[in-house]
Amino acid sequence: IASGTVPTFKLNDGRDMPRFGLGTWLGSMETSGDVKKGEVEDSVKWAIDAGYRHIDTASIYDTEDEVGKAINKKLAEGAVKREDLFVTTKLWNDAHAREAVVPALRKSLETLNLDYVDLYLIHWPIAQYKNGTYYDVDYLETWEGMIEAKKLGLAKSIGVSNFNQQMLERLISKSSIKPAVLQVEINLNLQQPALREYCRQQNIVVTGYTPFGSIFPNKARSDAPPPRVDDPTLVQIANKYNKTVPQIVLRYLVELNVIPIPKTLTKSRVEQNIDIFDFELTQEERDLFKGYDKNYRTIAGKEWIDSPYYPFEKN
Ligand code: NDP
Repeated sequence: IASGTVPTFKLNDGRDMPRFGLGTWLGSMETSGDVKKGEVEDSVKWAIDAGYRHIDTASIYDTEDEVGKAINKKLAEGAVKREDLFVTTKLWNDAHAREAVVPALRKSLETLNLDYVDLYLIHWPIAQYKNGTYYDVDYLETWEGMIEAKKLGLAKSIGVSNFNQQMLERLISKSSIKPAVLQVEINLNLQQPALREYCRQQNIVVTGYTPFGSIFPNKARSDAPPPRVDDPTLVQIANKYNKTVPQIVLRYLVELNVIPIPKTLTKSRVEQNIDIFDFELTQEERDLFKGYDKNYRTIAGKEWIDSPYYPFEKN
């Protein structure tokens, strides 16, 4: 794909957001194995070269430093301009007090070595001390800190992640600024039609994390519903477009008006994943994909189930 050909969404605050991005969460050490220093930096550089303009990180991922190095190198090379990039980072649960938000963002900016981020998200609605115990900060208070970050120009846009519809409704009715973006898990097995429809009505853009869900056998739990990447019907559809199954899955999410942010440390996959803006699925194919929605969550945050602000179904 030629650089700059990924379409954008207009956010409710007037800014533009690329409709596709790169994830940089390496997972727990258990699942990520031995990640080598520099791997995330490489993936972000490859991504920018392949036309990505949107990078997703978070303070808890421990990748802000490599993301920032890659971006600053590409800026110095003149490969891209800062205003053409869209960088997202996230506030961790241990900095939810109103007065802790701006300092946490300043620390992220220092690690990224950037003057501002394009989007700052409350990562979870849950406030928690570093040792894991909860403390009682309402996310409405946290949001006031986010508004300050926006007013200071440290974050051009602000939003939330892992909030449910009731939390969004409460936030919107009690605050002066509406979130521009909601980032939640969206993939074939968790398509969240009601939440997406609510966001559409509210003019909130939805970013979909873990866009591949359980399609790769090595990542799927034993109870995960189908399909897998070798599903014959999906392989047939992919072949028809001269694409891969991961590509048609990402394309489906784009057609739902979701912004997918797939993570990969593999150069060929970085390039493959963004190469989905030159074809369109048929209604019949979209209907087939819709049938895979089983309300099955891969990231349930069950360790926080006792928090008063746990956002998901408890069963
Ligand atoms: P993804 O759905 O992006 O899956 C990542 C896995 O898919 C990796 O194992 C990667 O392998 C593999 N992969 C990627 N592309 C291909 C391909 N074309 N073919 C085969 N395998 C492929 O999962 P994530 O959980 O990482 O989600 C994406 C991003 O969303 C995160 O990185 C993070 O930025 C964000 N996120 C946000 C959360 C939140 O709470 N807000 C929670 C979880 C994620 P490999 O790297 O080896 O190539």
